[in-house]
Parts: sequence; structure tokens; C-alpha cells
Amino acid sequence: RKPPTGSVQERLMVAVRIRPLKTDENQRVLFTTNNKNVIIGDYADKNDVLRQKRGSDKQYSFDVVFGEDSTQEEVYEKTTGSLVKDILNGYNATVFAYGATGAGKTHTMVGDPSQPGIMIRALNDLFNAVKDKQDQYSLHGSVNVTMSYLEIYNEQIRDLLNPGSGYLELREDARGRSIQVAGLTEISTNSTNDVMVLLQKGNKARTVEPTAMNKTSSRSHALLSVTVKQTIPIDKRDHLRMRVKQGRLFMIDLAGSERANKTKNRGKRLQEGAHINRSLLALGNCINALSGGARYVNYRDSKLTRLLKEALSGNCRTVMIAHVSPSGNQKDESRNTLIYADRANHI
Ligand code: ADP
Ligand code: MG
Repeated sequence: RKPPTGSVQERLMVAVRIRPLKTDENQRVLFTTNNKNVIIGDYADKNDVLRQKRGSDKQYSFDVVFGEDSTQEEVYEKTTGSLVKDILNGYNATVFAYGATGAGKTHTMVGDPSQPGIMIRALNDLFNAVKDKQDQYSLHGSVNVTMSYLEIYNEQIRDLLNPGSGYLELREDARGRSIQVAGLTEISTNSTNDVMVLLQKGNKARTVEPTAMNKTSSRSHALLSVTVKQTIPIDKRDHLRMRVKQGRLFMIDLAGSERANKTKNRGKRLQEGAHINRSLLALGNCINALSGGARYVNYRDSKLTRLLKEALSGNCRTVMIAHVSPSGNQKDESRNTLIYADRANHI
């Protein structure tokens, strides 16, 4: 696989994952026919061609669409698997899970021990690749993996690996080029098991507040960052002069994208909704500007986009996995998600 180039098609991938219909959901209004499109409509039923034609079905196309029966492995391989090589080659990459609460974002990103998600699989692949490098570099050079896990809730940053530590500040260097979270825990590890435990602990510490829509709705964005830093000789024959090659992978479980009014939110919830929408809107604008090749992209509108500035700009790959439920009672949310993803997809 080629390293990232300036080409938009190679830099931005928009995928959609449809979660399985649940037993208490009986009306399917959304499906895929060829793993490239999503059809949404009143009568959407792939087994009923006549009704499809009668309905007000609308079709959207994406780089890849994962149907209800897709596996965790398939989703990982087709979206994130190849990014691991880029990271080892010193590039940055970002994977987002977007969608309404209950649409399957956390299942895709974290999953559970029997069905591990993208975060776990990516780390596992990175650890294995790094072990090979460590053997290779054992005499000259070194390689080191660190990770951090944070949440952004109401435009405030909390360390999910040290939840008691209060709110953390963003620090920018004088030229506004690199941005850091002051005091954020960075751990060095190479054990997938340790990571699973850390992520599950971190997820329990996420700000989870009940809304009318879902008892465990997550109102925060969770950002897992993995950095691979290699110190290697500049020249194979000269082991004294070293250079640093660093790549960083962000894997992000975004807050539920449902609109504040839909969840009958009032007061505090409504304010949260505004903050969440602000970062999701800012993110959508950035991705849209990047995919359109805009010379100026505004990252300043939210903490999420400020944090991701380095990862989104320049030579990096971005993958957006939009999540939708096929159920009739989620149709408005699913449509909004498809529109958001479609907008990111267009140049
Ligand atoms: P979100 O994080 O978007 O709010 P979750 O990932 O928590 O949604 O998913 C909601 C529920 O649906 C969970 O019980 C989850 O296990 C289940 N679920 C979501 N996607 C899938 C899938 N692809 N296969 C099986 N179960 C899923
Ligand atoms: Mg979730």
C-alpha cells in the first residue's frame, strides 16, 4: 500500500455500518444491496422489490457500507488495518465513529472481549509490528509505543486513564503548530490485555448521563491516541547519528449525534447538546474543507478540532465510520447521519 499522498480519495474514507435490527424492532427502513450504498425509505425492504419502488426510497453511496451481518474483523480490516503501516512509516491517521446513541459506535470501537473492536485490534497489530521492529533495532535504535485516553465533555477535557485528575488544559506552542494536553497520562505498554482492561476502566469513567432516549447515552467524545516513536540511524552504516520517526493514530468514539430537542432535553442536557453539536459541526466543517482541498481550514471552533489539528492536516489519512440503526423508529437519526457522512464524502 502506498503512503498517503495529496489525493483526497486516498486521504479520506467514509464508511457506514448498519447495526443489526434488534428483536424488539420490527420495521426495517434501511439496508445495503452491494456494500457501497445505503437505501433508506418508508418501504425499504430488500426482499420486497415492488414495495421498494413504491416507497420514497433514497440512496446514498459511500466508499464501503457494512451491512447488519458484518463482523468486527471485517470492519477493522477494511477501515483501519492498513493505517497501522502508515503509523509505522511515521504518518498520522484518525478513525472516527460517528452516529446517534445506540447506533453501534462503541461496539465498533471497543466491542467486548469476545468481539474486540477497532481500538483493541489496531493496538494488537501495532504491538506485534513493534515487536518485530524491536528485534530488528535491538543493536541500533529503539521503538516505543505510548497511549493516552481522554474525553471531551461540555468542551472540557478529562483524563480517562486518571479520571480523578480534574479538567485538563490545552497548551499550544508559540507558533500554534503543536498542541498538547497538559498533565495527560501517557502510558507505555505492549500488552493487548492491559489495554483492554485500561479501555474498559476508562469507558466506565466516561461521562454517561441518562437522556429520555437511552439510559446509557454517552454525551462525551472519547479519544484514544497511540504514538509510535522510532529512533533509528540516519544511515545504515553510521550508527551514531540518529533520527526520530513518529506516527500517531487517533481512534475516536464520538458523542451521540442526536439533536438536543429529539431527546427531550432541558437545561443542562440542552447545553450539552449545544456543545456536542458544536464539536460535531466543527469536525464536519474541517473534514469538508479538507476533502474540498480548501487552503484555510478553521480548527479553532471546538476543543475536538483543536486537538485533532495536527492529525487532520497534512499528510494523513482520515476514516469516518458513520453508524446507523436500520429500525423505523430511528429513521430521522439515521437519515441525519447519512446526510452528515454524505457531506463529508463529497468534494
Ligand atoms: P453507541 O455507542 O453508538 O451508543 P453501542 O455500541 O453501545 O451504541 O450499541 C448499542 C447496543 O447495540 C449495544 O448493546 C451493542 O452491543 C449493540 N450493537 C451495536 N452494534 C452492533 C453490532 N454490529 N452487532 C451486534 N450488536 C451491536
Ligand atoms: Mg457508545
